[in-house]
This record gives sequence, C-alpha cells and structure tokens, in this order.
Amino acid sequence: MNPPGCSIALRGPAATLTGNPFEQPSRACLATHDDALVVIENGIITAFGPYAALRDTLPASIEIVHYPDNLIVPGFIDAHVHYPQMQMIGAFGAQLLEWLETYTFPAEMSFADAAHAQRVAHLFLRELLRAGTTTAMVYCTVHPHSVDAFFAEAERFDARMIAGKVLMDRNAPAALLDTAQRGYDESLALIERWHGRGRALYSVTPRFAPTSTDAQLDAAGALLKTRNGLFLQTHLCENPGEVEWVRALFPARASYLDVYAHAGLVGPRSMFGHGVHLHEGDFCTCHQSGAALAHCPTSNLFLGSGLFRLFDAVDPRRPVKVGLGTDVGGGTSLSQLQTLNEAYKVAALTGHRLDAVQGFYLATLGGARALGLEERIGRLAPGTEADICVLDPKATPFMDFRAGYCSSIEELLFLLMTLGDDRAVRATYVAGRRVYDRERAGDPFMPAVPSQE
Ligand SMILES: [Zn+2]
Repeated sequence: MNPPGCSIALRGPAATLTGNPFEQPSRACLATHDDALVVIENGIITAFGPYAALRDTLPASIEIVHYPDNLIVPGFIDAHVHYPQMQMIGAFGAQLLEWLETYTFPAEMSFADAAHAQRVAHLFLRELLRAGTTTAMVYCTVHPHSVDAFFAEAERFDARMIAGKVLMDRNAPAALLDTAQRGYDESLALIERWHGRGRALYSVTPRFAPTSTDAQLDAAGALLKTRNGLFLQTHLCENPGEVEWVRALFPARASYLDVYAHAGLVGPRSMFGHGVHLHEGDFCTCHQSGAALAHCPTSNLFLGSGLFRLFDAVDPRRPVKVGLGTDVGGGTSLSQLQTLNEAYKVAALTGHRLDAVQGFYLATLGGARALGLEERIGRLAPGTEADICVLDPKATPFMDFRAGYCSSIEELLFLLMTLGDDRAVRATYVAGRRVYDRERAGDPFMPAVPSQE
C-alpha cells in the first residue's frame, strides 16, 4: 500500500483493541506492535502495522513523530460527564439527591452567565485532552448557550464530541427549569445548529426521570425523531433513594427503565448513566433495544451509590453495551486511567477480575460500540478517524521504576490503569493533529482555531 500525500505518521510501541474481550479471550482481542507506524492522511488513519513493514511505503517528505518510550493507543472515550460540574468536583459529604440540591444546582445556575460557560468550556476541553480523552458524551446545563459554548470550544480542536442541553421541568430550582415545549424548541434549535456540523453530534438530554414530567419525556422522544443519528443521554438507577423516588413519581411504570421506554427513549443510541441498581429484566431490555450503559466507578464510589455489576451487564448470553464514564463532578477525575483504576476495584468487590485488555476496551473500542461509532473512533485501524493518545508508562519516577519490572504490553497497560493519570499522557492527537503535547514549552494546547482569550 502506498499512501500518497499522507500528512503525518506516528512511530513507536502501539496497542489497539480488535475484538470484545468480554466475549473472547483477552489475548485474542489486542493487537500490539513493539515498533509500529500509524499513518495519517487528512485526519484519517490510512495504515497501521509494524514499522518495518510500512516504512518503505512512506513518501520521503512525510513527518514521522517517534515515540520510542511511549505507547500509542486510540484516544479515550468518556461516555458520561458533566462539564458544568468542574467547579464542584470533590464536594464533600452527600449522596445523590442531597448532592444535587446542595452543590449541583447552584453550580449549574452560574451558567446563566454565558461568559462563565465559555470559561469553563475552555478549561474542560483542555482537561479532557490532557487526560487523553478525544470523545466525550457531555451534559451541558439547561441554558442553550452552555451548549453553544461547549461545541464552539470543541470545534476549535475539531474534536468528535456529543453533547446536549439538559431538560428539566420540575423538582429543581425555578432558575433551572424549562417547560416541555420550551425544552423541545430550544433543543431543536441546537440540533439544527450543531448536529453533524464538523464532528459535533447532538444528544437529547433529560437529566433524569425525577426532573422531567411525562410531557417532557414524551417531548424528548419526539426530538429523537427529528434527525438521523441523534443520541439520548440520561441517568438510570444510580442510587437507592433515587430509585425509590422514581417509583413514587411513576407508579404506573414497571421499572425505572420502563419510564424511559414508555417515552420512546430506549434505543440503539441511548446512553444511560450508571445502571447500578438494575434487574435482569432491565439488562434484557437494554440488550434487545441496543441501549448502552455508562459505568462510572469513581462517581459510584464517591457518592456511595453502589457497585455496578459490569460482568452481569456484559454477560455474553444477552450482552449489554457498556462504556466508561468519569461522571465528573460526581466522579473524581477526568482521567480514564484513574477511572479504570476504580473500575478494577469495583469489579474485584463484585467477585470479578477486570484485566487490562478489558479495561482498555471499555475506554476505547467498547465505548465507541456503545455509541454506535465504532466505524469512526475507538481503534487504530485504516479508515478510522485519527484520534490518538500517546501514553507514557514512565511518567513519574515511581512508574519508571515499576515499568522496569513489566515484561509485556499487557502488564504495561495494567500498570497504566493502576498508577496512571493525566501525567501519563505524553500527547493527544485529534483528527490527525497534535492538539496537546505535555513537553511543549509554554501552552501545551494547540487548537486548530485559536481561542479568543
Ligand atoms: Zn451524571
């Protein structure tokens, strides 16, 4: 193969998922090369394989960036995160419902100020890229300009992001409420403005069943039918108190998930945050409909919500698609490495062993599949978008020492998901452009379109 006109190639140790390690042996699902080449043209990967096999296919003029001591992997996918909650991450001492009242709603009220939304969106995008995350499914606030601020910032980096305006028409402060009609109209205007513009994708975003009336949930279902490829994100069975509340608010429904199903919100591009307290029937409904769950272990531990039964969810007899979410600010880190660290412990507490290949599947290809985007992102493979994270297994003196005792890429991956965080991200590429370089003097971020600061 001769890729003419390719713009850049990355060389170094590399690893990518090729299959589902919850359904096949992990070893069969990971492709690794000690010295690989990722060839990129116009933002798309055109070749991936051993350097020795590909080097003679390269034009002499191509720029090769060499990372001999790093590990090139697909960019991480965060399946559930709230950008307006950056300012309240690490807030003390509450479970979900009290935490929403005490911390979340006041933080989100500050987004009535469009300039504040822009400031936080600016920081949030950069912190995602610093963590090696190249796609995220993002809750904004009820304010439409919070969505504009987020997508405008993502567009500066040409990043594949999914986001939407939160819908709430009850059980929240008046300043954060819309109505079923207003939420529909504002969402539709945002869909028309952003869905499919560049790499932006829109998600209809009712916060969760308790803050939406039946009329608003029905309006959300109607919104999903207005364009092809729209997403749905909301919360599901996160906390026992919340589950009880939903039962009281919707006594006619068979389950919490049934509230959403009744409104037409359970389908192949639906991403339900948490699902900690689901029953077998709910897993079957998710499997049959193609709906996905976002596993958010740092949040579930921090808020005391419970232990997600990952291995029950992905049971090969009726597998449910699962992505990995940070759920900042309920979660405690935007790093998918730190999120995997806690996912391993949650799995251990539920009697299972989450190996490194399974962990990286959740954070990359599994997340892409959960979103129905596996043809575009989540792998190092020809034809996919060149969103790439360059990891540094020797990021700290301690990691450097410990990495000396690793004898395989699988061991290095497990080390990274145990000890790693944003310090272990050497560089991040979005659509083939280096947008973050830890070693760059001055500003490590390089948006394609500079910000107005
Ligand atoms: Zn959440």
